Amino acid sequence: MDRTVGDAPPLIALREIRKQYGGNIDGAPAVEVLHGITLNIQAGEFVAIVGASGSGKSTLMHLLGCLDRPSSGTYSFSGRDVATLDGDELAWLRREAFGFVFQGYHLIATESARENVEVPAIYAGMPEEARAERAAALLTRLGMADKLDNRPTQLSGGQQQRVSIARALMNGGRIILADEPTGALDSKSGAEVMLLLNELADAGHTIILITHDRDVAEQARRVIEIHDGQIIADSGVSAVKQALPAPDMAQAGRDAGASFWDDLREAARTAWRGMKMNRTRTSLTLLGIVIGVASVIVMLAVGEGAKQRVIDEMGSLGTTIMYLGSGHPSNGGPPGRLTIEDLDAVAALPEIGHVMPIIGDPVTVRYGNVDRQVYAFASSNAMPLVHRWRVAQGRFFTAAEDRDIAPVVVIGHKFKENFFPDGSNPIGKQILIVDAPFEVIGVMAERGADSGSQNYDEMVFIPYQSGRMRVYDARAEPDYTVVEAASEEQVQAAEAEMKKLLIARRGSDDFRIGNAAAKLQAAAQTSNAMKMMLGLIAAVSLVVGGIGVMNVMLMTVRERTREIGIRMATGARQRDIMRQFLTEAVLVSLVGGVIGVVSGLTIGGILLLSKVPVIFSVTAIVGAFACSVATGLIFGYMPAKKAAALDPVVALASE
Ligand code: ADP
Ligand code: MG
Repeated sequence: MDRTVGDAPPLIALREIRKQYGGNIDGAPAVEVLHGITLNIQAGEFVAIVGASGSGKSTLMHLLGCLDRPSSGTYSFSGRDVATLDGDELAWLRREAFGFVFQGYHLIATESARENVEVPAIYAGMPEEARAERAAALLTRLGMADKLDNRPTQLSGGQQQRVSIARALMNGGRIILADEPTGALDSKSGAEVMLLLNELADAGHTIILITHDRDVAEQARRVIEIHDGQIIADSGVSAVKQALPAPDMAQAGRDAGASFWDDLREAARTAWRGMKMNRTRTSLTLLGIVIGVASVIVMLAVGEGAKQRVIDEMGSLGTTIMYLGSGHPSNGGPPGRLTIEDLDAVAALPEIGHVMPIIGDPVTVRYGNVDRQVYAFASSNAMPLVHRWRVAQGRFFTAAEDRDIAPVVVIGHKFKENFFPDGSNPIGKQILIVDAPFEVIGVMAERGADSGSQNYDEMVFIPYQSGRMRVYDARAEPDYTVVEAASEEQVQAAEAEMKKLLIARRGSDDFRIGNAAAKLQAAAQTSNAMKMMLGLIAAVSLVVGGIGVMNVMLMTVRERTREIGIRMATGARQRDIMRQFLTEAVLVSLVGGVIGVVSGLTIGGILLLSKVPVIFSVTAIVGAFACSVATGLIFGYMPAKKAAALDPVVALASE
């Protein structure tokens, strides 16, 4: 459709725009910099805004480019009042409509020429390859083909300005806002830049050029003069041969940007580069997290190892065992003799489980022509229960057999190997213990390593009464008696009740109670407390590591405020900035977490080799790792939020 320029609705329409600085809480007096600017610009125009330094040109450009909002007045872009746009829609406009060329170039120092040019397309969601190709093509067109991978510091001023022009064109650059683009350039580079802008104007781009130099302004097709925040001259709307169509305002803020994963990858890549550029700082932060994670893993492993050792020392007897034996009464006198009736009375207490009197000594055992010293363990039928020990073959003797002094024996696993080496079935065979014949009725399961100093596997087990009468010369009293509390919780009560009962029965304290269970429980509690303390220390160091992350991220935000401004000016949304800084924080803690887990396992391994009991827990490893990542998220959030909340102009102005 052909239309005459004068009738077309203006692309940019400013009405009575005013801008004040200061006058808010920071105490600076309010200063009005723009005093009611009214101005129309048509699509495809090449306008120069000229004025002395301090006349408000940059302020005006920031308003035109939606980097800042006016204090009053209206700004309509393509018929839409800009004041009605939200943050995402403004970001969209900066991305899709505007291309900024700044006097100070404003390139991201850590990125190459090509990457700088790519930035606006990242936020527009252009696929990676298309992006790289287009950036290279633009730079080539501007004569920078051999400088694609140079960093800004490796480029001359003119070259940097060309990079920033390429960046302005990356997303189309329908409206190029150039603030003193030649101000920092020598005259030859400046002339080249002006030539470029002229070509772009011919191609239909709308160019708004800001300059203090009248000669530069004369190269534009319309000149607007500004003095002290007011327009004092305007050469009038110029003829436009062709203009790129204005962006479709109905689409404002609608584009979703790149896919979540592309965005994440991009953020991770930027983050990774940031970490590499600041090696010392990164390694110090990492160190904090590594120490945190590794110490959680190692300390919990050492704590668990110590606890397990205590449990091992308990053997298989569990935490309910007490020992009862005779002893001298406290007022002197001969040791008492505990009777079977005393033991029966103890067994009847509700706090008591099993009561198991024991006589045991090495005696001669014979079968066929084998003849050995073997420990004959005479005890009650409760032995397998008390020792939590299984009968592998045959059966254990019964309470009735014990009472009836039955000549039956259950043999240990090793005993069977020693006496029946041909593997024949021992059940039903007669063996001689001292000189008494006993019938083998069962074989205990192999007990192996946890049988302690006495090798239980080599013993034989006979009923208490049979042992007393047939083997141990009618001994009146057990060597000692194992008394089992009914439950772990009742250990203390069981001891007290037993003591009370026996004193009442015997009228004297001529007995001794060894409360192994209470000692073991206390030890287990101590080691549990130690484990918790170690865990706490480790957790504290993890938090300290997290604070380190936050500190570094806050510093990073401060250091990179200008970069944030550049990214926003080229179309980044708040959430893009937020995501980038969060990703950096999480990446640091992720890397720290991995190194921490590896070092934790290594240190634990070294401890193991030096015989320190260490038991790694998968929960602790996974937990420590998860904590480090969570630390990154939590402590990275605040700096990320701070970065995202920055005003584009404010961020750009920072040095
Ligand atoms: P120009 O680009 O024409 O040199 P600017 O638009 O940068 O002028 O500045 C116009 C006036 O506004 C100057 O007097 C400047 O000191 C003032 N000014 C610019 N930015 C701020 C700000 N953020 N706070 C207070 N005053 C400002
Ligand atoms: Mg300026």
